[in-house]
Amino acid sequence: MIVKNFNKRFPDYEKILENLESANFLVNFKKNSISISLDIFTVLTYDLRGFLIYGIADEITFKRGLGNRFLKIYRENAKKQRFDLTDFERKSLLNFAKQVSETCFSGKAKNVNHENYTQAELENFIQKINSKNYEDYEELEELYKKNYSPVMILPPDQYLALVVQMTVGCSYNKCSFCSFYKDVEFKIKPVQEVKNHIFGLKNFLGEALKLRKSIFLGDANSLLAPTKYLVELLDFLQTQFEFGRGNFSGVYAFVDNFTQNFKTKNDYQKLAERNFKRAYIGFETGSQNVLRLLNKPATPQDARDVVNRLKESGISVGVILMTGVGGKKYFDEHIEKSVEVINQMNLDSSDIVYFSEFVSYGMQNYLEFLHREGIEDNAETDSKMQTEAIKSRLFENSRDKPKLTKYEIEEFIY
Ligand code: SF4
Repeated sequence: MIVKNFNKRFPDYEKILENLESANFLVNFKKNSISISLDIFTVLTYDLRGFLIYGIADEITFKRGLGNRFLKIYRENAKKQRFDLTDFERKSLLNFAKQVSETCFSGKAKNVNHENYTQAELENFIQKINSKNYEDYEELEELYKKNYSPVMILPPDQYLALVVQMTVGCSYNKCSFCSFYKDVEFKIKPVQEVKNHIFGLKNFLGEALKLRKSIFLGDANSLLAPTKYLVELLDFLQTQFEFGRGNFSGVYAFVDNFTQNFKTKNDYQKLAERNFKRAYIGFETGSQNVLRLLNKPATPQDARDVVNRLKESGISVGVILMTGVGGKKYFDEHIEKSVEVINQMNLDSSDIVYFSEFVSYGMQNYLEFLHREGIEDNAETDSKMQTEAIKSRLFENSRDKPKLTKYEIEEFIY
């Protein structure tokens, strides 16, 4: 998701720096990261290599992806705003961070907590943080591009995953609401190429790997690869990474409803035995008419069957439903059929139903599909109405309900 910068709001760094000498610094050297706080309004967090990963200054939050891309997030008129930092803004932020860390580590920090690090290790971290300059961040960007083709999207609970790109693009690439991989030719990489990619990622991230919580097999619908291929890859991942408590929680991927007819329960069980934990399916709608407008193949019942087969095999699912689609004509049908089909899925509290509100950003051809059939588009507020209407009727009598939550993609950065 590319966010353009149209907004110039930025922290008053000068004001914060004026009071730096008298600030009460608190430093935390944690297992995965290091943070410096002046107060709750000014926080800087670094990975163990000394690169800034997160910050708060003057009520603006900053997040860095794995390269040199930063997002700023803040509230304006009670609405969340998110923008990419410009080059100038990035330099200002990093310059500010440098002045804060240098002052903090020049003996000003009175409160220092750490998790069993030796004095030499602490000094090493400080040296790494203080020595970083803008060129180091630019180099990070170059390395990022060498290791990754653009990571377009992840499920919201997977933003801290280590993405392993075993496929490139999407095998279908024709959904009317999606333009993520339009110019990308789909391919499943040979296993050896993926193994080399994994070695490259380990080198690229080094100590920053400790911040990653899971492994996500990208790009879209990677579970279409043959089971033999997936088994070999999952076995290889076991040899390269630690799984379990305090380590990677498991392996995750998107799945689709149109290539899974050949995968049996037995196939999925082989994946489950190898730490594959959850598959995310773009279900979108329970209405065949709405699915036609979305130009997505197969049927809602196919999606339900894939979900139930995964569940029988011990794999959790994330079911992604899209609201605000189908136009006025199918407004009610989208609600009714989606409630009906999702309630036929054997979901429990290990699963998630995501509500993704359709956003038109001018590059999709969904609206053409509506116009072709003379259907009036929904109003902006219709998405929320559909979300609430569907949500209130899912798993009404279940004691072990799946989590029902919003599919937020605006803060996605990788
Ligand atoms: S929504 Fe998924 S299946 Fe459809 S084109 Fe986009 S990536 Fe491919």
